[in-house]
Amino acid sequence: MPNPKRRHSKSRRGKRRAHDALRTPQTVACPNCQEPRMQHRVCPKCGFYKGREIVQIEQNCLTAQPPFRRRTCAACRGGPAPAL
Ligand SMILES: [Zn+2]
Repeated sequence: MPNPKRRHSKSRRGKRRAHDALRTPQTVACPNCQEPRMQHRVCPKCGFYKGREIVQIEQNCLTAQPPFRRRTCAACRGGPAPAL
């Protein structure tokens, strides 16, 4: 297997890592519930997009984990309630 002949310098490593910082995702306020949500995404809090309810959010769900409560919770999909 080919191997690097020399290790990279601290300077070179630092220059590579200069672009590695994570940025916080850009959010906008939901026009329906004012919660911050990602642009062009269904609101994880109220399930609205473009003024229509797209995803029905279960308010009393035991395993409520925004976003995608409905997809991840068996009880919300009509199945048996998970043991908690
Ligand atoms: Zn909303």
